[in-house]
Amino acid sequence: MKPVLAIVAFCAALACASLPAGAVETCPGDPTAPADTPAIRIDTKGGPALGAMQYPRTAPLAAKQVAFTFDDGPNPDTTPIILDILDRHCVKATFFIIGIYAERHPEIVRDIAARGHTIGTHTWSHPNNLRHLSLASAQREIRRGFEAAEQALAPASEESRLRLLPFFRFPGLNDSPALIGWLGARNIATLSCEFGSDDWRQIGPAEVKRRTMRNIASVGRGILIMHDTKPRTAEALSSLIVSLRQQGYEIVQLEAGDDARELAAAVPDPLLGAIRRAEAPSAPLSAALAPLTNPSLETAESLR
Ligand SMILES: [Zn+2]
Repeated sequence: MKPVLAIVAFCAALACASLPAGAVETCPGDPTAPADTPAIRIDTKGGPALGAMQYPRTAPLAAKQVAFTFDDGPNPDTTPIILDILDRHCVKATFFIIGIYAERHPEIVRDIAARGHTIGTHTWSHPNNLRHLSLASAQREIRRGFEAAEQALAPASEESRLRLLPFFRFPGLNDSPALIGWLGARNIATLSCEFGSDDWRQIGPAEVKRRTMRNIASVGRGILIMHDTKPRTAEALSSLIVSLRQQGYEIVQLEAGDDARELAAAVPDPLLGAIRRAEAPSAPLSAALAPLTNPSLETAESLR
């Protein structure tokens, strides 16, 4: 086969391999990719703890399916760049946001939601290990994280507000049985991961990509943790998406069941659904609530 024909055939094969059977619509910014990110629905009833790095159970992912998650934002310098890259490649992801940043940059939270991504929470101020706090303080960290997310989304459309799902990720993945049980009683799923990206380490974007590809290949399917606060992540992201798809991986979006928010709001002491549009507080949470005893945003480097 002549080189040009070989390239054409190769690209055609890539396009076919990237598209699910029967799909016709392709991504405008990345014609080898599908226009939609398939949804993987998580049953949040009882608040399961999911992710094989820590737990026996995980999300119902098929072989070579990878769910992108981004922690520690929103960040005005990097999150918008990452959102644009995801849009260009028609990838929907999940953002585990920090409450204090959501309060500081609510417009970015609304942008994440408006673009159709999933939003979960990651505490109010990202204490590196909730086990080191009293149970009451840790619970307050988690509660305020959800409240800040709901408040940021309160002025948004109904569709956008529904992008906040009963998903929680522990800072540094440092969980505790007591807190998992407390979340579970409120029908909040704890989401860990199958693999990280090492994007919090002092490495370049090429190395972030290399390690991420290696980590994914070693497990074959799962939830990937990245950080939308890291310029190296933004720099690596486009190439990572393209390479994963070229190797036959399907990028999927974590979603919950249609009744997930109702389930979370129906408990006596809910974490999600406590703030509704009409009654969203007008004052910032940080002004309305007592200061935290252990704010540790400066040590927000997470995931081990
Ligand atoms: Zn984190």
